[in-house]
Amino acid sequence: PSRSEVFVDSPTVPSGIDPTKAHPARRYNYWLGGKDNYAADRASADLVASGFPTVRTAALENRAFMRRAVTYLARERGVDQFLDIGTGLPSAGNVHEIAQSIIPSARVVYVDNDPIVLVHARALLTSSSQGATAYLDADLRDPRKILDHRDLARTLDLDRPVALMLIAVTHFLVDEDDPAGIVATLVDALPSGSFVVMTNATGDYLTPERYAENVEVNKRSGVPFRLRSAAEFAALLGDLEPLPPGICSVVEWRPDLEERAVLPTVEEVSMHCAVARVP
Ligand code: SAH
Repeated sequence: PSRSEVFVDSPTVPSGIDPTKAHPARRYNYWLGGKDNYAADRASADLVASGFPTVRTAALENRAFMRRAVTYLARERGVDQFLDIGTGLPSAGNVHEIAQSIIPSARVVYVDNDPIVLVHARALLTSSSQGATAYLDADLRDPRKILDHRDLARTLDLDRPVALMLIAVTHFLVDEDDPAGIVATLVDALPSGSFVVMTNATGDYLTPERYAENVEVNKRSGVPFRLRSAAEFAALLGDLEPLPPGICSVVEWRPDLEERAVLPTVEEVSMHCAVARVP
C-alpha cells in the first residue's frame, strides 16, 4: 500500500514499524484480543483461522501454560531468574508479574526482535522494587548476542539457576535456522539446576486433512511457521529430559495449578510443551 493508505489504516504508526506486512507479535496480540495490530496482521491472522479455526483458543491456552509454568518454577522450584525470549507484546500476566507475585525479588530479561515490542517495552519494565527487569531488542537466531549483552549480565546471575522461556517462538524458526543448535547454545550458558520451558505448535493431534489445511494457510499467511511433531520437539531439547508428564499438550501440563471450568481439547490447542531441568 502507499504511504497514505498506511496512515489511513492507523494514524499512529510509530517509526520503525512496518504495518504493511504481517508480524507474529501483532498477529498474536490480535488473537489474544489486543489492539496493537494492523490490517495486514488481521488479514494474516484471519487466513490462519480459516484453516485452523481454534487458533484463538490455542493462543489463550499457550498463555495459560506460561502462567502455570512460571508459577510452578517460582513456587515449587524457587526459580527467581527468567530469560524470556520471544516475549510478545505486553499482556495480562507477563513473566515478571507472575514470578514477582511469588518471589518479589525475581529478575527477568525479556528478548524480542520485533520493533513493536520495543515500542511497548516500558510496560515490561515495571519491576517490583526488590526485583529487576530488562528488555533486549535481539534475535533468537543470534543467541550469542543475547548471552553476551551487558544488560543480561547486569540483570541475571548466570552462576545461579535461570529459567529459559521459549514460549510460542521456536515455531517461527525454520529448520535452516538450526533451532536445536540455538537451544543448545543457550542451554550451555546456563548452570546446573536451570530449566528450559518451551512450547511449539504441532499437527500431531489433527487429522491428516486438518493438518494439511493448517500447513497450507500458514504457508500463505506471510509468516514462516513450522509445526513440529513430538519427536521434532524432543530434538530441539537435545539431551534434556522433560520433567513428568514429558512432552505433552499445553492443556495437559499441570492443569491443577490454575482453576478452570472447562479445558479445551488437545486438537483445538495443537501446541506441545515441555519443562526440562538442566542437569
Ligand atoms: N512468548 C509469548 C509471545 C509469543 S508470540 C507468549 O507465549 O505469550 C511470539 C513472539 O516471538 C513475538 O513477539 C515475535 O516477535 C517473537 N519472535 C519471533 N521470532 C523471533 C526471533 N527470531 N527472535 C526473537 N523474537 C522472535
